[in-house]
Amino acid sequence: MAMFKVSEKLFEKIHRLTIYGKIAEDVSFDGIDLTQRTIIHVDFKHVIGINSGGIREWINFMKKVPRKSRVICTNCSVEIINQVNMIEGFLPLRSFIKTFFVPYFCESCGNQTEFLIERKRRVDPIPELDEFIKCHKCGEEAEIDILESSFMAFKEKF
Ligand SMILES: [Zn+2]
Repeated sequence: MAMFKVSEKLFEKIHRLTIYGKIAEDVSFDGIDLTQRTIIHVDFKHVIGINSGGIREWINFMKKVPRKSRVICTNCSVEIINQVNMIEGFLPLRSFIKTFFVPYFCESCGNQTEFLIERKRRVDPIPELDEFIKCHKCGEEAEIDILESSFMAFKEKF
């Protein structure tokens, strides 16, 4: 299992955090100073899971985001989106989900595919998601593997 780690990079205007591994109760975000830039870019691409203890640590970490700052999230998995939808405070106000994955499942061959959806700005409408796509493996129809209305709830806020 990949070790938990947060890599940090500072750019002119952006503080970029890339998270690796599982966000669990034993992780620590101590030592990450979120006051250095007003745009905090969080990349969830390498997160392999999050549990309730990890959610608690994460929320405490997000409480340290200064009021004037903005959190921009990329590569959010279904699991991360579910937390954003269910848990108040998982992201601070003014956060933005820039890219997220939508999963598809093919019943014919059992293949799972994920599509990355990108948004330019929060106010832009999200194009309607295709209910079926062609399976990359067998060519049959793969069906969207989320309930769109509840999954997309986050877009009203973030
Ligand atoms: Zn298939």
